[in-house]
Amino acid sequence: MRDFSKDHRWLSLNTATVRKQGDLVAIIEACARHGIRAIDPWRDQVAAVGLERAARAVRDAGLELTGYCRGGMFTSDAAHRIEARDDNRRAVDEAKALGAPCIVLVVGGLPQYSRPGSAVSKDILAARSQVHDGIAEMMEYADSANMPLAIEPLHPAYAGDRACVNTTKQALDICDALDPKRSGALGVALDVYHIWWDPELLPQIARAGKDRLLAFHVCDWLVPTKDILNDRGMMGDGVIDIKSVRSAVEAQGFAGYSEIEIFSEEWWSKPMDEVLRTCIERHRSVV
Ligand code: ZN
Repeated sequence: MRDFSKDHRWLSLNTATVRKQGDLVAIIEACARHGIRAIDPWRDQVAAVGLERAARAVRDAGLELTGYCRGGMFTSDAAHRIEARDDNRRAVDEAKALGAPCIVLVVGGLPQYSRPGSAVSKDILAARSQVHDGIAEMMEYADSANMPLAIEPLHPAYAGDRACVNTTKQALDICDALDPKRSGALGVALDVYHIWWDPELLPQIARAGKDRLLAFHVCDWLVPTKDILNDRGMMGDGVIDIKSVRSAVEAQGFAGYSEIEIFSEEWWSKPMDEVLRTCIERHRSVV
């Protein structure tokens, strides 16, 4: 496993971590100040400053991207299917313009939550089948732009509203079905917050192998967690053995960035520089 204790060469910042402290351009400037070399921006943050300005800021700062957040939300009723398809095509175009290496997919839960306005459904099996079909359709467009798609399995607590793909195994089953040749077009984004509890995690990471491991996200799981969405912990403040997961991922040959992604009212309330300093320190000590 790589030694992260000496520097933060392999730290990437998911820009949602400091979304309330400044716009994307301010975040990029802060990354430059702190020697952070990679980011994973969110679509709404890009839209807020404009795609061209965002792309220029990334280039001028010499930043790499570790992904683009996010595509997906494939589940909808029939009336919203075209909206979902076109929205995902725009995500591919934006990712391309920004120079992202992949799009992170949050696949959607039940239709009424993924695509608001959709008819109410309790059929999670149908939702999963839509996800399969939606990814297949998006892959056609993404392939023509050479943009890999990274399915992010989400903790089962999100099955209703955000993602009905909840384990690494489920995500890899989709990868194997839609990209059996392991072309690089489809893989997974593994986020320790969502997968740390899974008894099948280690064998599934081995199953993924280097060519399916497109992104690695870190934060921590606080006990107790007060809010499933916005109470993620800073690495080291919770119960996830992050090093053991990174070790398993790197044993497969993953050699990319470790992306810090913390949605937390607590950390959003602190000054950006303080958050980044803490991220760097914890990256070196506990990631
Ligand atoms: Zn993530």
